Amino acid sequence: MLRDAHNRTIRDLRVSLTDRCNFRCFYCLPHGEPSWAKKETLLTFEELEYVIEIFVSLGIEKVRLTGGEPLIRRDVPVLVEKLARLKPRLRDIALTTNGYDFVRHANALKAAGLDRVTFSLDSLLPERFAVITGVDAIDRVIESISTAKDIGFAPIKINAVVVRGRNDDELAEFARFAREHDVAMRFIEFMPLDSGHEWSRNMVVPGREIHDAIDAVYPLRLKDASRGSETSWKYEFSDGAPGEIGIIAPVTEMFCGACSRIRLTADGQIRTCLFSTTEHNLRDVLRNGASRNEIVEFIEAVVLKKEPRHYINDAEFVQPARTMSFIGG
Ligand code: SAM
Repeated sequence: MLRDAHNRTIRDLRVSLTDRCNFRCFYCLPHGEPSWAKKETLLTFEELEYVIEIFVSLGIEKVRLTGGEPLIRRDVPVLVEKLARLKPRLRDIALTTNGYDFVRHANALKAAGLDRVTFSLDSLLPERFAVITGVDAIDRVIESISTAKDIGFAPIKINAVVVRGRNDDELAEFARFAREHDVAMRFIEFMPLDSGHEWSRNMVVPGREIHDAIDAVYPLRLKDASRGSETSWKYEFSDGAPGEIGIIAPVTEMFCGACSRIRLTADGQIRTCLFSTTEHNLRDVLRNGASRNEIVEFIEAVVLKKEPRHYINDAEFVQPARTMSFIGG
């Protein structure tokens, strides 16, 4: 078991496969990175397979592949297939993608053993989608979502980052989309992790406000009184319609006390929190010939350093140097 110094058990590993992305979402990576990570610094699939097996032996149950845009990395189904060999100890392999290139890989990912997929979709209006992401590709994303449904991925989650004045007038429309397509629509508060450093508190639409705006049109019922270690409060529609609403409010309703997550960046750094200002270089440990025991000790020692909470709401908060796209959202 991986346990931190605050008695939290770590069961969830988010693995960034690349810092690169083919979208330029204004709240994430509006101008790209000044220099992308060099290929030789990225963990290879063999290295990922090796270290993820160690994480699983230490109690990690869920692995989410993310980025950057993970499907930019070549042959992701090959990695999924390697990870699927770790089942049933590894209970869940998930992918977060912008959906641009999902259709091409969908069947191979399913056959390889991918369990779940989460898409990002920040507007249902084609022109606004293009402005938000920098790419005129809403049709591809919608097609990806229906392909995922058709080949049996379930549940399908869709993330929308809600930003004041940009897409907060679409909340009820998103809810309608969730009902019509029987998907889980998850609304995320804008966090200070954007490479453009444009985040400001008045751009954050509080989770409570998101809830109330949807509830006024489509009354909601809380699904579980407890959130467990999940990031979202989950709601169903009171009228029994299909679909689900999730609200993720890390800024206004911090949930660090129940956090079960750690992250591995594409270049092999362990991050114990999205907002960590330090990283732990697993890649060097691995490449310098450490034994399995030494790697285990390294991981256990890093987990003990996991921060008690984030400090977004403190006056002295400093935005981490690495952005969401590098860390792996
Ligand atoms: N490229 C993939 C995608 O678009 O889903 C995976 C990586 S992306 C960084 C993962 C998630 O992080 C997306 O749902 C994205 O909307 C979210 N995200 C990125 N920047 C964010 C921010 N500043 N605040 C809140 N969520 C953010």
